[in-house]
Amino acid sequence: MKSIIALIVVVIAAAFWWLLLDSRAPESADDVFDIAAYRALIADDVDLPSNINIEIVGMDEAPKFATETGGGFSKHALYYTAIQIVSPTEKTVIGGAVDDLTATAILQSDNASFDASAYDRLKESYASADQIFITHEHLDHVMAITRHPAPETFTDKLRLTAPQVESLPLFAPASGLSPALASLTPFEIAAPMRIASGIVVAPAAGHSPGSLVFFVRRDDGQEYLFIGDIVWAMSNIDHLKTRPRLLQYLFFEPDEDRKQVLRQVRALHDIAARKPDLVIVPDHDGAYLRNLIDQGALGGTFQ
Ligand SMILES: [Zn+2]
Repeated sequence: MKSIIALIVVVIAAAFWWLLLDSRAPESADDVFDIAAYRALIADDVDLPSNINIEIVGMDEAPKFATETGGGFSKHALYYTAIQIVSPTEKTVIGGAVDDLTATAILQSDNASFDASAYDRLKESYASADQIFITHEHLDHVMAITRHPAPETFTDKLRLTAPQVESLPLFAPASGLSPALASLTPFEIAAPMRIASGIVVAPAAGHSPGSLVFFVRRDDGQEYLFIGDIVWAMSNIDHLKTRPRLLQYLFFEPDEDRKQVLRQVRALHDIAARKPDLVIVPDHDGAYLRNLIDQGALGGTFQ
């Protein structure tokens, strides 16, 4: 009898570790993000971006253990955001964030809020944008696009990859997906690519099949790497951790490529150590993003 109880305890402990605690990044992953190659693609660019702005469309909180294995029970501030990159000759917008219905549907805490004015500014920003991208095809990154009242006014500037385009029907409004979005021609990207003065996009499948990262150099030389949801919290990069398996199984369809995400986390950890001046920007880390705004690394609203 004792041995049966011992066996049950071992099985439960193993399952707990596997689902909630295991998060082993590889020893190295130097080939994942080639910053030197990104720099080379924009080395001769003029009219570099002068302003990089963020809209915070919604705020919420989640327990730290949901964003980082072994992260504990403290609250972590999550923002729902989009980015605008402004150069003297062009504007690039990255992101579609959440609408109010989605913010309510995925609400995690009593402290959640939605900023209708910020959401309106995001929708309106597509009119003056030259190109529109998303970091990836998840529900909290697409809604200002799929639920925009007139997406046909900006589909010619929309650069969505094939996995991103395929996901759009999931996020349609009640009236159905706009024909202009349903017939969108996918943006082809197989390798890092310069997309505008001072901006490079690179494929980064893992968190989702259509995940991208964006490397940007501002006109004062400040460089940025926008990493979408590779991590929700910058502490994951410090601690070489990803999300718990249990959460991945519950929330992501299709599942994350966990092995690839852990390679990316290792790569970002090493890049952060080697290039401390590079500003790494995840989409959701509230306190960290607030600090970037306070420091002037990001403008606090679109222009
Ligand atoms: Zn995501």
